[in-house]
Amino acid sequence: MRDLAPYAARSERTGGRRQREASPRNRSEYQRDRDRIIHSTAFRRLEYKTQVFVNHEGDLFRTRLTHSLEVAQIARSVARSLRLDEDLTEAIALAHDLGHTPFGHTGQDALNACMKPYGGFEHNLQSLRVVDLLEQRYAAFDGLNLTFETREGILKHCSLKNARLLGDVGERFLRRRQPVLEAQLANLADEIAYNNHDVDDGLRSGLLTLQQLADIRIFARHMKAVLKEHPRLAERRLIHETVRRIIDTLVTDLIQASARNIRTHAPGSVEEVRAAPPLIAFSRQIRDESLELKRFLHDHLYRHYRVVRMSAKARRIVTEIFQAFLSDTRLLPPEFQERAQKDAPRAIADYVAGMTDRYAILEHHRLFAIEQI
Ligand code: MG
Repeated sequence: MRDLAPYAARSERTGGRRQREASPRNRSEYQRDRDRIIHSTAFRRLEYKTQVFVNHEGDLFRTRLTHSLEVAQIARSVARSLRLDEDLTEAIALAHDLGHTPFGHTGQDALNACMKPYGGFEHNLQSLRVVDLLEQRYAAFDGLNLTFETREGILKHCSLKNARLLGDVGERFLRRRQPVLEAQLANLADEIAYNNHDVDDGLRSGLLTLQQLADIRIFARHMKAVLKEHPRLAERRLIHETVRRIIDTLVTDLIQASARNIRTHAPGSVEEVRAAPPLIAFSRQIRDESLELKRFLHDHLYRHYRVVRMSAKARRIVTEIFQAFLSDTRLLPPEFQERAQKDAPRAIADYVAGMTDRYAILEHHRLFAIEQI
């Protein structure tokens, strides 16, 4: 049996699935969740969804899929160190972006603007909707019928209004309680992954330069150390060696600072974890440095004019597709037409959110291009 800490989530004590199912024979409940996520359609779509760089801009940039795999890798490694359940944190990490629209954050903002009069659109809630409802693979139920802990972990944040509508997984927001440590961990692993891979992708694309990053404390410190040990290192290796050391520093700090928090609060059970403040956290110094890097990326990469141009195009595509369907739901594929009879805006949002980048571009052509393609 795995040596889990008393504060770890235990699959044999799961809050259960919405539809009753017999326990898995050869795996834990959380392993089953993880496996269902990997086999889902939404998971395969992540391969063709933008993280920051649109898929066709280059083969080496992160996609939502490779991003999710990096998050899972980091989360598992921290989980093992803290004796948490690796499978649960992996399941949450792999599922955390399933509800993302095409074209990254721009796509989500555009869809949210379209959905404003109809309850809004939020990728977190959509991830939950994918695993609870939209996946259609099983004979006995809609969605993937995941355990409570995985579903709760996927719902990283939500408004109080939505929390009231969501029932079980919304409860902790109303009661101001924390999710299990495996969920807290997946959240920070996400941050470690995107900060670092966005630096790497930003440099690869030429949108960021090493000179700019030399002003950012955590990057400058590690780059200097690498150059001291290897003065004539080729640039690609310098970048990778620096980034990997930053990841190692962040992961190590996360493990140590969280272990300290756990020692201080000494939770003896998941119940005590829920009642405590967030225990998975960076030290103050590393949190500040990580925040500095995050702000830098925000100002210099996500707002770079080449990214902004792509975003503007993406916004137009999402908005125009949405409006076209809303003005005439007969344009929707039959399956969504049927659902649109009950709630047209939500059915359209589900359809648009599920699209990959290139599918959205193609669908836009199909709806608006005059010439035959
Ligand atoms: Mg993410």
